[in-house]
Amino acid sequence: MTPLVRDRALTLASDELPAYLYDLSALRGHAAAVRAALPPRVELYYAAKANPEPEVLAVLGPYVDGYEVSSGGELAHVSKVVPGRPLAFGGPGKTPAEIAAAIELGVERFHVESEYELHMLAGLAARMAPDARIAVLLRFNLPLSAGSLEGSSLAMGGRPTPFGLDPSQADDVVRLLTDGTYPQLELRGIHAHLASGLDAPEQLAVAESIVTWSLALTERHGIPLAEVNVGGGMTVDYAAPDSRFDWATYGAGLGRLTDAHPDLVLRIEPGRALTAYCGWYATEVLDVKHSHGEEFAVVRGGTHHLRTPATKGHDQPCAVLPSRQPWPHPWPRSVAQQERVTFTGQLCTPKDVLSRQVPAAGLRAGDRVVFALTGAYAWNISHHDFLMHPRPGFHFLGMHDD
Ligand SMILES: *Cc1c(COP(=O)(O)O)cnc(C)c1O
Repeated sequence: MTPLVRDRALTLASDELPAYLYDLSALRGHAAAVRAALPPRVELYYAAKANPEPEVLAVLGPYVDGYEVSSGGELAHVSKVVPGRPLAFGGPGKTPAEIAAAIELGVERFHVESEYELHMLAGLAARMAPDARIAVLLRFNLPLSAGSLEGSSLAMGGRPTPFGLDPSQADDVVRLLTDGTYPQLELRGIHAHLASGLDAPEQLAVAESIVTWSLALTERHGIPLAEVNVGGGMTVDYAAPDSRFDWATYGAGLGRLTDAHPDLVLRIEPGRALTAYCGWYATEVLDVKHSHGEEFAVVRGGTHHLRTPATKGHDQPCAVLPSRQPWPHPWPRSVAQQERVTFTGQLCTPKDVLSRQVPAAGLRAGDRVVFALTGAYAWNISHHDFLMHPRPGFHFLGMHDD
């Protein structure tokens, strides 16, 4: 926990908790380190779906080449918050209205996910902006080798999914883009986002196989390959919050790939591994209780604010900050009798578990608990309205680096 976060978690009043605390100076430092690890000709786009808070998008600005958006809502939001920055528009099931909005905004890249979508894009472009050139990356659902699949929690490549084009359609779709059928559409390259939760050597193996496959395709058609987007999915280890994805190894490996292909631009679009580390969810213990041999601490809030541990099935890393305030009530505090305590939220469902069997001897009602790695896929994936508890506060700390 950074000093800014610890200080705020201890000084907020009970009724100002729970709260999301974002340390933007930590985000700045991390993004700068990621950027520094990447060689030239590797572009970094931020996948906005991981955390689209305006402050987060803005702080990342100097370190990224652009933003990946996957819906009309993200498109509108990101283009307003960080105007003028390059956008790549991906995602399955784009509506005609969303594609029209993207054409109007002049997004840098369309990640086309199906042949039907290609026809729609061409039709809308011809009608709306007949002079415009539309840059397309074809997204493919490529097979992952067994080795690169190991350890990936969210593998999407090489098995039936609604994402991207099937590799068997590759030649037909490339022909559509090169035989004059759609003169406005320019095939710039290939996109593949195949897995999430991979470490650096696995990510590199995936990137190499995407590039190899893409080169074989374009060589078969006698056309140049300008760029390949190898996606995101860099791992965040929730069981080891201090160890981070090995950006140095990954960057060096991508450098070898671009050295081998001097005309190729590579692009990556991480979300989680960029922003997970800059967010904390701070709350307080409402009650500590014994149940059938185990102890539970019920905190203000829960998985309706921080759904990540429920969706990923992990224990959210956390730290206890003993309360510094005098106990304000006439009744005594409840106190943990055992070494280990399971942190749960206020929802009336057994799934509302934030972290199991945490060492927390002596934990008392009123103590503060701060959950880490909540800067990505946390608040924005949560079912906020379930049970009608109040929303958390939001605090953006370290806004100005001075
Ligand atoms: C979600 C997503 C990303 C980002 O994935 P992370 O695991 O957050 O790095 C990148 N590209 C596409 C197409 C996605 O759907």
